[in-house]
Amino acid sequence: MNTSAEITRQTFDEVIIPTYAPGEFIPVRGRGVHLWDQNNKQYLDLTGGIAVSGLGHAHPELVKTLREQSGLLWHVSNFYTNEPVLQLAKALLDATFATKAFFCNSGAEANEGALKLARKWAHDRHGPQKARIVSFHNSFHGRTLFTVSVGGQPKFSEGFGPLPPLIDHVEFNDIAAIEAAMADDVCAVIVEPVQGEGGMTPADPDFLRALRELCDRHQALLIFDEIQTGMGRTGQLFAYMEYDVVPDILTSAKALGNGFPIGAMITTDDIATYLSVGTHGTTYGGNPLAASVAGKVLEIVNTPAFLSHIRQAGAELRAMLEDIVTSYPEHFSEVRGKGLMLGLLLSEAFRGRAREIMNIAAENGLLVLLAGLDVVRFVPPFIITGEHIREADTLLRKSIDAWIRKT
Ligand code: PLP
Repeated sequence: MNTSAEITRQTFDEVIIPTYAPGEFIPVRGRGVHLWDQNNKQYLDLTGGIAVSGLGHAHPELVKTLREQSGLLWHVSNFYTNEPVLQLAKALLDATFATKAFFCNSGAEANEGALKLARKWAHDRHGPQKARIVSFHNSFHGRTLFTVSVGGQPKFSEGFGPLPPLIDHVEFNDIAAIEAAMADDVCAVIVEPVQGEGGMTPADPDFLRALRELCDRHQALLIFDEIQTGMGRTGQLFAYMEYDVVPDILTSAKALGNGFPIGAMITTDDIATYLSVGTHGTTYGGNPLAASVAGKVLEIVNTPAFLSHIRQAGAELRAMLEDIVTSYPEHFSEVRGKGLMLGLLLSEAFRGRAREIMNIAAENGLLVLLAGLDVVRFVPPFIITGEHIREADTLLRKSIDAWIRKT
């Protein structure tokens, strides 16, 4: 095995359980929208750690916050509370519909908490028969057993059964399908306002309004998974604010901590009472380090000027990608998404080949992602500027040209 002095990409294959297939280089340093690898090669990062690093890498105010908090208090467990988590909760609740928060360490865990809360609420308030959860094809809610079962992509749950029962999946954006699926035994409907991993597909406003009405009619809770859409990504602090549909429970993670692991589930006082003392928990949830970073992220992102910058940058990036579709009509068919959560859909003839573009782009110093096999995904840091977008345009065209030459 390699010694610590010889850490290479090969080391990954030797020591890590092979659930990931990381790129061929190892990033060692980041600043703003750029990363550098072990050979000091520079990359323009339009992945933001999968929609996480909204404020970019090594944001000076976040570095300062983390440094200060790390000299004061790291962790005390939930046998005690701490000041940063209370400050974060107050700020998050002031900014949203919610009045109570629960903190954890990841998106999957936030959704796990939301789904457990929905089941517990329904069980205690209506009886054990009200336990069915409705979710959508192509949705993604995390990798715990409950969340892969609720997620609408069977490839993530196959082979891990038996799966938790009473979970139905219906077509996304199909009002007739959800009307047919709803009944009084449904305890919750969970939806991403823009499906991320599933292909960057925004929900229709009428569809979300229909979900709200149907949940009210059948006394079910509406859960918005805003793990990818939230904390500014779509141009609002949370996407529900633009859709004008208020959920009962909302989950956040990813950009909330800008890379410091944290997840949050927020809800109303009434619903929150059903998770009474001892019913749910996690050792690290809301620890002072994560909470102080997230509090600073929220302070920076949640201003009208910053959110307007995200909308402006999103419009510029979209225009750049639409020009790509115009330039390469044979290869790309559409730009999808909202704000700084955008996808470039491959045309029918080239479906399944997004990874090839991602790999060539990385060779050319441009980091982009996939959303499934047919969509090249762009979820850059919010601090991206017009200059970065022009740099991305040049690198992306160079990469697409190289890809076309190879095809
Ligand atoms: N929900 C959505 C919408 C996501 O996009 C993700 C991650 O991609 C998750 C949940 C899971 O979050 P995590 O990977 O932090 O567990």
